[in-house]
Amino acid sequence: MRTPPQENEKIQPYSYGKGIFWILVFVILSLVPIGISLLGDVPDARDFWMEFGVALGFLGLGIMGSQFIFTGRLSRVAPTFGPDNIFHFHKTLGIVGFVFILAHPVILILNNSEFINYYNPVVNLPRAVALSVVTVAITFLILTSLWRVSFGLSYEKWRLLHGILALLVVFIGVAHAVQVSHYLDPLWKKALLSTALAGCGYFVIHTRLIRPWFNKKMPYEIMEVQSERHDSYTLVMKPRHGPKMQFISGQFAWITINETPFSLQQHPFTFSSSPDSDFISFTSKESGDFTETWKNIKPGTTAYLEGPFGSFTLMPTGNIFMVMGGIGVTPGISMLRTLKSRNDQRAVTLIYGSNDYENIVFREELDLLENDLNLNLVHLLMEPHEDWSGESGEVDKALLEKYLPEDKDACNYYLCGPGPMMDITELNLRELGVDWRLIYSERFKIV
Ligand SMILES: Cc1cc2nc3c(=O)[nH]c(=O)nc-3n(C[C@H](O)[C@H](O)[C@H](O)COP(=O)(O)OP(=O)(O)OC[C@H]3O[C@@H](n4cnc5c(N)ncnc54)[C@H](O)[C@@H]3O)c2cc1C
Repeated sequence: MRTPPQENEKIQPYSYGKGIFWILVFVILSLVPIGISLLGDVPDARDFWMEFGVALGFLGLGIMGSQFIFTGRLSRVAPTFGPDNIFHFHKTLGIVGFVFILAHPVILILNNSEFINYYNPVVNLPRAVALSVVTVAITFLILTSLWRVSFGLSYEKWRLLHGILALLVVFIGVAHAVQVSHYLDPLWKKALLSTALAGCGYFVIHTRLIRPWFNKKMPYEIMEVQSERHDSYTLVMKPRHGPKMQFISGQFAWITINETPFSLQQHPFTFSSSPDSDFISFTSKESGDFTETWKNIKPGTTAYLEGPFGSFTLMPTGNIFMVMGGIGVTPGISMLRTLKSRNDQRAVTLIYGSNDYENIVFREELDLLENDLNLNLVHLLMEPHEDWSGESGEVDKALLEKYLPEDKDACNYYLCGPGPMMDITELNLRELGVDWRLIYSERFKIV
C-alpha cells in the first residue's frame, strides 16, 4: 500500500511555467538599469556606437546584478532548476556580463579616443583608479571561476573571493554610472538605480549572513558516524530541538560541521536517509579536506543544515529507472529507503556502477532492498573478479537497451554519478527514445 503523497511532494520540479516565469524575471531584472536610464527626460541620442557602448554597460550591470538573485539559493528559484542548471546559467551569463562590461569602454574608446582619459589618473584620479580596479576585478572574477584549480584556490577561498569581487564590480559599476550621470539626471534616477542594485547585492548578505544566523537557531547533533564501503562515511544526525528538516528523497542540503554556521566550509550533500526516518543522514566519499574529516567526527558534534534544495526528487507516481555510479548512489538509496518505508511496490531498475565488488556502497542493504521492493538491481563493475557473472565495463547503449522498460513513458529516469557516465547515459537514453523531460540528472561536481 502506498501512503498518500506528503504535502512537500506536491512540488513540481520540472514545471515549465515556473521556469519560463523565472527566465522572464531574469530578463526584466537585466533590463532594469537600461529601463531606469530611459525614464523621464532622456537626453538627445548621440551617434550609434556611442549609444551602443553605453547600452552594453547598463546591460552588463543589470546581468551582473541579477546573478546575485539567481545564485542566492532562494527556496523559490532553486527547486525550479536544480543546482547544476543554475550553475551553468550563472557561468554563461557571468561570461556574457563580463563581455558586455568590457566591451563598454572598448567601444567608447574606439569610437572616440577622448574616452581613454577616463583611465587617466592625471585627469581624474578617483575615476581612473575605480575604472582600473573594476576592469582588473571583473577579469580576475571570470578567470578564477573558469580556472579555479589552476589558480591554486581552494573552493572555500574561491567562493569568498568570488562574492567580494562580484560585489566590488557591481558597486563600482553603479558609482560610475551615477558619476557619469548622462542618463541618470535628475537625482531620483541615480537613487533608483542605486537602490535596485543594492537590492540585488542584499541577496549575497542574506545568503552569507542572515540565513546562517537563522540556521544557528536550528543546530543538529551528530549521533553516529558509520563507516561504509568505498572510503565513505555516513553522518547520522538529529535536531537538538524542534522538528527535523522536511525534504523529498533526492534533494540535498548545505552542511556546516562546526560550532558556527558562518563557516566558509559549507558543502552540499544529498540526504541518504528517507524523509520518513526520525533522523537525517548524509553519506560522503572522502575526496578532500572537508570530507576527509568525517571519519574523525565525534558523536555530539554540532552540525548546521541549510536546505532542502534540488529538483532531483522522487516523484509521487511513475516507475523508476536509475543509473548511478559510485557515491552518486546517495539519492538512489534515499529513494529506495523511502519506497520501502511506504511499502511502495512500483517497478524500479537500478543500474549501479562501481569499480569492484568490494567497493559497492550500501551493497548489503541493496541486496535486502531487492527482496523488499519491486527492484531490479543491476551491478556494473569496472574491475570485476574472475567469477563475476554480472554486468561489467562502462554504461553503453546496449546495456541501457537491455534493461529499459517497455513502456518508456511510464518511468522517471534518475542519473547521478561521474560526469562522463552521465553524459553518455543521457545521450543514449534520448537516442533510445526516452522523452528528455523524464530524465533527471544530478551532478556532484559542478565547480
Ligand atoms: C547537489 C550536490 C550533492 C552532493 N551530494 C553528495 C553526496 O551525497 N555524497 C558525496 O560524497 N558528495 C556529494 N557531493 C559532492 C560534495 O559536495 C563534494 O565532494 C565536497 O564538497 C568535497 O569537499 P572537500 O573539501 O572534501 O573536497 P575538495 O577537494 O575541497 O573538493 C573536491 C571537489 O568538490 C567540489 N566542492 C568542494 N567544495 C564544494 C562546495 N562547498 N560546494 C560545491 N562543490 C564543492 C569541487 O568541485 C571540488 O573540486 C554533492 C555535490 C552537489 C553539488
